[in-house]
Amino acid sequence: MSDKPSREELNALPVEAPDLEDETQHFYVCADCGQAVDMRRLGDVLHHEDPGHERLPEQ
Ligand SMILES: [Zn+2]
Repeated sequence: MSDKPSREELNALPVEAPDLEDETQHFYVCADCGQAVDMRRLGDVLHHEDPGHERLPEQ
């Protein structure tokens, strides 16, 4: 079965996130690759959960 949604599809999902004054508060730094991850982008978050993953291309 390969009906897993793609990272882009996951990123497009609406996420309940409070409007924070500081945009940087939506980000955390991945302990694995050191890249800043936007917690509102579910696909990116799941990507960075994957052991041995590559850094994502910058948007
Ligand atoms: Zn990462």
